[in-house]
Amino acid sequence: MNGTDDKTEVRDYFNATGFDRWRRIYGDGDVNKVQLDIRAGHQQTVDTLLGWLRADGNLSGLTICDAGCGVGSLSIPLAQDGAILFSSDISEKMVGEGRERAVAAGLRDNPTFSVSDLEELTGSYHTVVCLDVLIHYPSDQAMDMIKHLASLAEHRLVLSFAPKTFLLTLLKKVGEFFPGPSKTTRAYQHREADIIRVLEGCGLMIERSAMTSTRFYFSRMLEAVRK
Ligand code: SAM
Repeated sequence: MNGTDDKTEVRDYFNATGFDRWRRIYGDGDVNKVQLDIRAGHQQTVDTLLGWLRADGNLSGLTICDAGCGVGSLSIPLAQDGAILFSSDISEKMVGEGRERAVAAGLRDNPTFSVSDLEELTGSYHTVVCLDVLIHYPSDQAMDMIKHLASLAEHRLVLSFAPKTFLLTLLKKVGEFFPGPSKTTRAYQHREADIIRVLEGCGLMIERSAMTSTRFYFSRMLEAVRK
């Protein structure tokens, strides 16, 4: 399968069944146990990153590109803290929901939400963030995405991804033997060493890192800073 097909499939998913599923996971209404676990794990990732950025004490006026912003789970609190958010997503449904949530939170022009494939983003931002998006792409494509995002980052790029570890590979295999009833997109894990090599090749060095593991949610987060 080539890159265009992967993107088309992911976009179509997040404009249809994926939108319904993830909007609920990233909300506060009733969900099933697995979704509740994923909601808690994802919130932990978001909270860890908010903690890092707030600890720096310079959020006010900082330009942040949230690439693959989903429904704005990170963008909205960052905008409330005074950062200037450029939030985009390949799915117009996710972007629409993000816009609605921002307005409901009392935010009007910040974040600016737009529909875009992250590889089509241009401009330059103090910080570029891409949370839980790379899981949708195979390694080659994910590494190209990281290079593009790094080219937009003046100071820092924060990424999260499902790490390729023995346990996760095993769980995925078991999942493939016993596929669940709900159709999702393929999930790709990435080797941390490969990602760090690409980041370093772009002139970025790892500053902070974190791992969130719940029963059904695994996300490794790296903050890479320009030296
Ligand atoms: N980053 C958000 C968060 O952590 O709340 C959303 C994570 S969600 C699992 C993945 C998101 O990535 C979806 O909203 C999806 O539409 C978006 N996405 C997938 N491929 C993308 C691409 N090539 N460019 C931009 N967004 C993409």
